[in-house]
Amino acid sequence: MSSVVNTRKTPPPEMASFKKPSKLAAGNDKEVVPEDANIPDNYVAWTLKNQKQLPPVTWGNLFENINWLSTAVLTVTPALTFYGAMHTKLRWETAIWSVLYYFITGLGITAGYHRLWAHRSYNASKPLQYFLAFAGAGAVEGSIRWWSRGHRAHHRYTDTELDPYNAHYGFWWAHVGWMIIKPRRKPGVADISDLSKNDVVRWQHKWYISLLLTAGFIFPMAVAGLCWGDWLGGLVYAGAARLCFVHHSTFCVNSLAHWLGETPFDDKHTPRDHMITAFVTIGEGYHNFHHQFPMDYRNAIKWYQYDPTKWFIWVMQQLGLASHLKVFPENEVRKGQLTMQLKKLRETQDGLSWAPDSEELPVVSWQSFQEQSVKRPLIVIAGFIHDVSSFLEEHPGGRHLLTKHIGKDATTAFFGGVYDHSNAAHNLLSMMRVGILHGGHQHGLEDKAIPPSQRLRIAKYNEMGGSPYASSTAWSDGEGILG
Ligand SMILES: [Zn+2]
Ligand SMILES: [Zn+2]
Repeated sequence: MSSVVNTRKTPPPEMASFKKPSKLAAGNDKEVVPEDANIPDNYVAWTLKNQKQLPPVTWGNLFENINWLSTAVLTVTPALTFYGAMHTKLRWETAIWSVLYYFITGLGITAGYHRLWAHRSYNASKPLQYFLAFAGAGAVEGSIRWWSRGHRAHHRYTDTELDPYNAHYGFWWAHVGWMIIKPRRKPGVADISDLSKNDVVRWQHKWYISLLLTAGFIFPMAVAGLCWGDWLGGLVYAGAARLCFVHHSTFCVNSLAHWLGETPFDDKHTPRDHMITAFVTIGEGYHNFHHQFPMDYRNAIKWYQYDPTKWFIWVMQQLGLASHLKVFPENEVRKGQLTMQLKKLRETQDGLSWAPDSEELPVVSWQSFQEQSVKRPLIVIAGFIHDVSSFLEEHPGGRHLLTKHIGKDATTAFFGGVYDHSNAAHNLLSMMRVGILHGGHQHGLEDKAIPPSQRLRIAKYNEMGGSPYASSTAWSDGEGILG
């Protein structure tokens, strides 16, 4: 693949059609062609190599590389909050309303923008869609269309330069940097043709500025003003302060969720699971799970884990406002968990010393064993010759029980004849192996020959003897697999 990329001077033929995406499919005026319908198979490598990108940001060009609109939103809101809070008394009704509206607008992003529109993890009725589109506008994070397009690119190109919030550029880049500094390159292509067909998404995109002002400031102010006469408090606390919290709460999904916690499902990329992130993000904190199973309507799979977004979607289903909640097959989820558990166990296994492999040990005749036993304390157990010199004084049963079996086969005595040794004793015995007795391996002794600690070992696929393809010539397609 890379040689193709390196030698190609002109775009591959597929790129020509990719560069000029047609808005309409031939023969059907209404159908929108998916943005990624005509991309080449080596799209990622080709784009990284050939797509123009802006020069690196330096102190010299910093000023012209700032995205002033986003920067204004991200600085004026906290400034207004501080100024307003210093001059406006916080009434308890307004405090409760602000927290409630934080959850409402936060859910607009998590249950709406994220799980419904970006990931299609469930179906929502029209009333619920309008509610989420309005609430999401109140979070002032761009329209559903714009947000979902970026988020789909984030999932598709996670941790690469085509990921708009590439976590490898650091916590603050993923949190706000990507909005403050003009990105060096465009996010990778991601299809949103399904959203282009959605009435609610189109409505929200068309009226976005009006909706932003209404849901972001006018509505929270009006509720506090009309219900308990606190117009200014409504604007400062339920409007500006609440917006600061919603902003940084949801931004944490790109920063904190790619930085803090465990990787119980896969460790290929940066997404992580952590309870703190879940608390901060209305339940989006099980991000390792989410990147593995993005179309699952849940982030948390255990009942005790904090995922109010999942609970909200479930309640909407009970009310008949949501349906077709998608859940990834449990069997496949558990495979991911098992893989990571095995990986950790393998690290533990690799950190321990094990008995020498049979192939590494010399095969010794009975006569030679007898001769060598005169010079050093050798005992045969389960076909293996053991040098017990370091253990003579340590043997819990006493030195005499070992010396009595020097030059002899002590298999029966070891396995219950005299004392039924523990698994730990068997494991330790295997470390004293120095040879294999020629013809000493008797059929039926396998469980005695293999120390208990090695009966279940973690082996990589290429350590198990033979590739899965090696025996393919022996296969028959008589069963009709190949037709
Ligand atoms: Zn992510
Ligand atoms: Zn997502």
